[in-house]
Amino acid sequence: MITADIVIIGGGPAGIAAATAAAQYGASVVLVEENLNLGGKVLSHSGKSLSGIRAEAIEARVRRRMFKAFQKVSDRITVHAGTQAWHIDDRKEVYLQPVAGPAGAAPPRVRGRTLVIAGGAMERMIPFPGWTLPGVYSVGGLNALVRKGILPGKRFLIAGTGPLQVALAHHLAKNGADIVAVISPLSFTRIFPHLKDLVSGIGIFKILSIVNYLFTLQRFRIPVYSSVTLVEALGRDSLDHAVIARADASGRPLPESRRSLSIDAIGVGYGLIPSTDLTRLCGCRHDYDVHAKYWKVRSNSHQETSVPGVFVAGDGSAIRGYAAAIAEGRIAGIEACVHLGIVSRKNADALIRPFAVRLKQMNRFGRALDALSLPGQGMVSAIPDHTLVCRCEDVTMNDVRMAASRGAADINDLKRRTRIGMGHCQGRFCGQIIQDLMAHVSGKPMAPECFTPRIPAKPVTFKTLAEER
Ligand SMILES: Cc1cc2nc3c(=O)[nH]c(=O)nc-3n(C[C@H](O)[C@H](O)[C@H](O)COP(=O)(O)OP(=O)(O)OC[C@H]3O[C@@H](n4cnc5c(N)ncnc54)[C@H](O)[C@@H]3O)c2cc1C
Repeated sequence: MITADIVIIGGGPAGIAAATAAAQYGASVVLVEENLNLGGKVLSHSGKSLSGIRAEAIEARVRRRMFKAFQKVSDRITVHAGTQAWHIDDRKEVYLQPVAGPAGAAPPRVRGRTLVIAGGAMERMIPFPGWTLPGVYSVGGLNALVRKGILPGKRFLIAGTGPLQVALAHHLAKNGADIVAVISPLSFTRIFPHLKDLVSGIGIFKILSIVNYLFTLQRFRIPVYSSVTLVEALGRDSLDHAVIARADASGRPLPESRRSLSIDAIGVGYGLIPSTDLTRLCGCRHDYDVHAKYWKVRSNSHQETSVPGVFVAGDGSAIRGYAAAIAEGRIAGIEACVHLGIVSRKNADALIRPFAVRLKQMNRFGRALDALSLPGQGMVSAIPDHTLVCRCEDVTMNDVRMAASRGAADINDLKRRTRIGMGHCQGRFCGQIIQDLMAHVSGKPMAPECFTPRIPAKPVTFKTLAEER
């Protein structure tokens, strides 16, 4: 069994910052990342992609600085890239499986005297009829494809809420895609109360790149509609039409305003929510954020969770962008060293103070982002009966309704009765909105609850399981 002072899961900005900070103070670090490249969602791009797309200049600079610091201490960091963590047990043993690159490059398990979980976020999806058709992408997924040089269609519709839609429209338009419309179920007037927090949280460079995105929308005459929602995706074997409609204040589509658009790809999403599968497996306490409508791992100002020696950083703790992820990563790395007795409490307090101030500002930014990403309850209540809500186990909205009418008392009871959330993705999609679905079909508010965590956190092969024996 390989043992390290700190095992870090996730090689995004938060994980890299944690590894760098901990190694700088002398800790031995194992960093596990499922992709072959480190850098996470936005900082792993080298800038090679379709013509005209480069990692934003500012991102490229942050990336260079981040990797330079990382390289300086890399002799104390063992990186297992192309390796997934699929379980963490109560001895802080992290179970690994290779998913890319050479087989056998990573051990089946590593034990950390402390852990930093920096697994990032996932996109929030609201099921709608046709969302499983080829040609329907999440906004982040489509963005990642475009940045890798793949344009999977000609005529695009971009739908939903959150900060990623405008950037996606910019990247697509710059590469010759025909964007039929960018639609949001929210009224744009909802931005005004949050403008101050948004602006103060992102800084001048990011504001300039947002202005650049908006300029692209105008230059390419891309129609942008607020209070308009995506109702349905249609097609025989793959997407060829989408139906959109005006939305009321709750996001519910108004049937008389339905309109059909001929398209071959959709990017849709409703903001980001923290990934909590690994922190839940660790037994960390979580709280339901009623404003953002997602579960968050509970952590203190040192990024330590309710389980001593288990730290969390980045989007996996709250959604605030990569600058906050880097700050939290450094705090987690330093605090893990305090836990190990490598750094004194007094020194750590002085080291983390500058990050703590910046994080307070980023918290306000994060809350504004959450508020502007949150889809209205009307969207959930308008999901038609035939819609697949659990795409892995083919559970429809009607199945949920029937189970509730037959007495399903809570979401784990619903899971046992319908198999919702038991499939390949382990409830990563349906688990996000199951609370709202149950409240809607049962007609009464329900105490917040999430699916009981189960291994494996990621799909594993029989080979991995056999070796585990
Ligand atoms: C399309 C898109 C555009 C964005 N644009 C911006 C922007 O312009 N500005 C900004 O500030 N923020 C942006 N963000 C948000 C930004 O990406 C995040 O805030 C930031 O990357 C968070 O860093 P992180 O390290 O917490 O998570 P991530 O960058 O998501 O890194 C987490 C890493 O953990 C790995 N991982 C997860 N689970 C496992 C596992 N079980 N085993 C092994 N590895 C695992 C993932 O592969 C990933 O590399 C964007 C996000 C997306 C999706």
